[in-house]
Amino acid sequence: MSRATRSSPSKGTDVAKALPPERMPRALAAITAWRTAPDAPVSCPVCGALGLTVIDQSARPYAEWYQLSCTACGLQDMVNIPLGPPVAGGLD
Ligand SMILES: [Zn+2]
Repeated sequence: MSRATRSSPSKGTDVAKALPPERMPRALAAITAWRTAPDAPVSCPVCGALGLTVIDQSARPYAEWYQLSCTACGLQDMVNIPLGPPVAGGLD
């Protein structure tokens, strides 16, 4: 009864940059690094700049949410990590 959902909403150029799907492995690695050493600089999964901000937004015991933001490239997105088997993959 309603019109179909649009797949490409028009956004302004000043909208925060979302994490590209292909960068997710690097985002997970960045979160892992941040959890290991919260005080150490973390590389942005998009532009590689140190100084990525990671905020733990996890609220439930079922999944973890982390907000990533980078002032260098404007990245700002939430990353969901379902609890379960640990994510395989290394820091390269
Ligand atoms: Zn960045």
